[in-house]
Amino acid sequence: MEKAQPPSPWDRAADVVVIGSGAAGLPAAIVAREAGASVIVVEAENHIGGHAMTSGGNLPLGGGTSYQRKYGIEDSPDLLFRDLTDWSVVVPNGFPPYRYNDREIIRAFADNSAAAFEFLLAHGVKMVEKAPDNGSGHEVGISALRTMHCAVMDWPMIQTGKPADPSVRASTSSGNGLMQPLHAAARKAGVEILLEHRMTSIHRESPNAGRVLGIAVNHNGTALNIRAGKAVIIATGGSSGNVNFRRMFDPRLTEEYCGLAGMPWSDQDASGELAATAIGASLWGLFNFSGEFGSGVTKPGAIGCQYNYTNVRWHPGSEVFGQARAIGLKVADWQNLILVNLLGKRFYDECGPQFSYSSYMSVIPYEPYSYLNAKNIDYNPNNFINAALAGIGDGHNGGGPIWAIFDADAVAREKWHPAPPHVDCDAGFFFTADTIGELAQRIVMKFQRVPMPPRNLIDTVARYNSFVDAGKDADFGKESPRYKIEKPPFHAAWATPVVHDTRAGLRINTRCQVVDIKGDVIPGLYCGGESAGGFSMHGLPRAICQGFIAGKNAAG
Ligand SMILES: Cc1cc2nc3c(=O)[nH]c(=O)nc-3n(C[C@H](O)[C@H](O)[C@H](O)COP(=O)(O)OP(=O)(O)OC[C@H]3O[C@@H](n4cnc5c(N)ncnc54)[C@H](O)[C@@H]3O)c2cc1C
Repeated sequence: MEKAQPPSPWDRAADVVVIGSGAAGLPAAIVAREAGASVIVVEAENHIGGHAMTSGGNLPLGGGTSYQRKYGIEDSPDLLFRDLTDWSVVVPNGFPPYRYNDREIIRAFADNSAAAFEFLLAHGVKMVEKAPDNGSGHEVGISALRTMHCAVMDWPMIQTGKPADPSVRASTSSGNGLMQPLHAAARKAGVEILLEHRMTSIHRESPNAGRVLGIAVNHNGTALNIRAGKAVIIATGGSSGNVNFRRMFDPRLTEEYCGLAGMPWSDQDASGELAATAIGASLWGLFNFSGEFGSGVTKPGAIGCQYNYTNVRWHPGSEVFGQARAIGLKVADWQNLILVNLLGKRFYDECGPQFSYSSYMSVIPYEPYSYLNAKNIDYNPNNFINAALAGIGDGHNGGGPIWAIFDADAVAREKWHPAPPHVDCDAGFFFTADTIGELAQRIVMKFQRVPMPPRNLIDTVARYNSFVDAGKDADFGKESPRYKIEKPPFHAAWATPVVHDTRAGLRINTRCQVVDIKGDVIPGLYCGGESAGGFSMHGLPRAICQGFIAGKNAAG
């Protein structure tokens, strides 16, 4: 095979090059640097932190952490491993969250989970001073309470541009309280962080053989090459923002699902997965990508804006508000509106739930590894996501936009301000009109692929109002529909599902080394976090823990 020529000369060099400065990247960089390696982190955005910075900072690392011991909670690596590999646990919509977890990868997580937590404490992350709980309902298994919460303290919140109110600084859980101290620790340790350096490819000795040598990056239009003497660590945060990539696993996830949680702070564009597979890496555990677990795809918490994940509201003080464009209207009571598809028809009980997680004590009685667990679950197949993504029978794969329809009385009850900066009128995520028919006609935006027939929306609202009179929703069983939609002006607000986690990615081994399609390690290449596969778990713990493992091994 012809040998690829390494770039000559290299523009920069370090022992370890980390791609991405999020929950996996910064721990990896700090650990590698403290083990004696020189470290460069490249970050595509003009700020650090990735989705981890936007996160709620709820942190279910376990296996016997100091916080678990302090509060008398018994846990061990073996119990954590058992919880996350119990194939028999089934969540209320029938999906088994742990069945497709790769045992080797979970073993490595279980064995390093507590140490990764202590690493955070040692690097300036403060926890809310309370006993671990099952807050945020993470998939951490069901035998022990594990979720701790990163206190925001005095760090500025990227969502608002301001610090939290002093009275709640030590009790507010936030990703800012995780990533800002890690950023300070990385700088203090001597990690070099290059912002606006987007990795575009990975150099290997030859396309499918030999060591990884370094990476190519794009820095504001200039192509640079960075040599990695020992290792490259992919910590690019997943692929859910890349429509073509995610549709390989779930064809329903078409472009109208444009409200990626964590955007516009950072994207999940699959660049790590694409660069690694281009040099022979394998993907892994792909069922987890499209399995309908927990928060993979969610019901929006706010409406009338593109980025409408329930826990992230972008305010005008935020440095990314220009891209977010609106704060959104937070829905307190789903009785205040109806949800319609792009044809103006209801499809669902608006007050109904979305997917639930399997969490602490969710199966009672719980028999580890027993098929009987499935009998002890209250099935509830009714959920927003299945209904919203179901489609309208026009041959299109995605379900199309979902609109929240409400009137002036709902605005008053919710104390909403249906105007900028609360809603995004300019980009077509919010419309207002004096009649229902006119409202349907106004809904023109890039994802509304056919006009909404005014007659449909008029009939839908009239029928719903008749359900309010009757006290019964004859179509979707909404419990005691409470409010008619009758007082102008009427509004249509974007309420399309939010895409959240990536739960499958590159194949790694217990040392977080990337493995190729033949099952062989790619020398010098590591990966952790949402770009790594084999582990169905929401969020921070696996990213932090795998960053911790990858950093240790990459520097070795
Ligand atoms: C709104 C929100 C709330 C959340 N709340 C919680 C929570 O409370 N608890 C929890 O456990 N989890 C939570 N999560 C999930 C958690 O934040 C993520 O799972 C975690 O951050 C993933 O870590 P990561 O390192 O894989 O990716 P990220 O933290 O996203 O970091 C990836 C980084 O790589 C950079 N990057 C990508 N491509 C390139 C490239 N080509 N070149 C250079 N840099 C690149 C990105 O810009 C980004 O900075 C939340 C997520 C969101 C979005």
